[in-house]
Amino acid sequence: MLLKVVLFGYSRGMISSRALERACCENVTFMALACGQKPDHSTIAAFISSMGEEIGWLFTQVLLVCDEEGLLGGTHFSLDGLKLSSNASKEWSGKFEDLEKKKENLGRKVREAIREHREADKAERKKRDSDRERREERIRRLKRQAERIEKFLSENERKKGASGEEIQSNVTDNESAKMATSHGVIQGYNANALADEKHQVVVHAQVFGDGEDGSHAKPMLEGAKEKLEAIGWREPLKDRRISADSGYYSVKNLEVCKDLGVDAYVPDPQFRKRDVRFADAGRHRRSVDKRKERYKSKKRWFSVEDFKLDDRTGKLICPAGQGLYIRNRNFCTADGYKAIAYQAPKTGCRDCQLRSKCLRKPNTVSRQVHVFYGQRPGSITDEMKQKIDTKEGRRTYSKRLGIIEPVFGNVRACKRMDRFTLRGRIKVNIQWMLYCLVHNIEKVLHFGASYAMAA
Ligand code: SF4
Repeated sequence: MLLKVVLFGYSRGMISSRALERACCENVTFMALACGQKPDHSTIAAFISSMGEEIGWLFTQVLLVCDEEGLLGGTHFSLDGLKLSSNASKEWSGKFEDLEKKKENLGRKVREAIREHREADKAERKKRDSDRERREERIRRLKRQAERIEKFLSENERKKGASGEEIQSNVTDNESAKMATSHGVIQGYNANALADEKHQVVVHAQVFGDGEDGSHAKPMLEGAKEKLEAIGWREPLKDRRISADSGYYSVKNLEVCKDLGVDAYVPDPQFRKRDVRFADAGRHRRSVDKRKERYKSKKRWFSVEDFKLDDRTGKLICPAGQGLYIRNRNFCTADGYKAIAYQAPKTGCRDCQLRSKCLRKPNTVSRQVHVFYGQRPGSITDEMKQKIDTKEGRRTYSKRLGIIEPVFGNVRACKRMDRFTLRGRIKVNIQWMLYCLVHNIEKVLHFGASYAMAA
């Protein structure tokens, strides 16, 4: 009964438990679905949160119906991510040092508020009760906030990013992350979906607590493989076309595609620049993009062009006249680019007057420069670039937009499931799968062979 209420509510954009509770008391359709019962919002929230085990099975059952109704083509799948706000404010984000400062600020505000309260009490004996209550409530609220940060700092470790450096934690939902979207920075989750070309049915959905898609292909493709095998497909992804945007272009993702035997189309970020058809694409640039360009950092550091090679010594000479020695003659990046790595002597950079123009981070000991001269033949990224640059590659990739973006448009704009109301990655994952379930069920109703005939 609760599942029916939740799915119907979600399909009408009611994603908060309180809205569903209200609907079960006021809306006749919800009353019928709830069999006249009036579930409490906490019961509804607890029900959704407890679906961790069942949601995968339920998703697979709906996928099976989609397959039986002939909605899965299985020729081309498209992968992408949608960044949705979590039930946490980005104001409660920061590195541990930032949160410590925030806590100290709150402590200072509490002390000031108490002092003001005492002075006001002394000065105005006949003060109205409401003012006194308001001040006391403010002190209690500030204390609660400071205690909340203190508790968080004592119970949690510093959050580390992919590079091992500390990234911002969030006091409310530490598994969500700050991520940039086209509408600004949000505190949220990166909700990924893999959709089939024929009717844009979602075959796998999963959320991630980071905005970078560079390592998401493995869990997404393995999840899709598992679900398609569960509905009876043999070798479901082998030799099938998979397209994803350039956010997924990474050695890690391309290797996963190769290991799983899929026919992947994942372009590098520069692929449009190589495509002659996009030579004058700039004329369509929206004014908003031009406005953004004004805010780009004007700061420029010395680049490799500012360093001159001394043929006699084989050293690179920096703008301050220091000679950079060769640290690695056979340097090679993960995607196959070869370079000679040079490094400046520590003593040279230590007291250099040009440090602020040369080193991006003030605590860097000495400058490194890589002079690129070629590419390792047959690298996996090189193969992908060649594949994308073919007529067939471009044609296949151009289908990506029409496969996956309608899913996100339907979920976010048409169904208004545009944020997550639960906290924690596991619960948010359940909610995202429910969103995609609503999308898939609607596909069955509109395009399923037996349902379409009945309609
Ligand atoms: S920081 Fe080091 S490499 Fe850069 S200009 Fe100064 S001495 Fe040269």
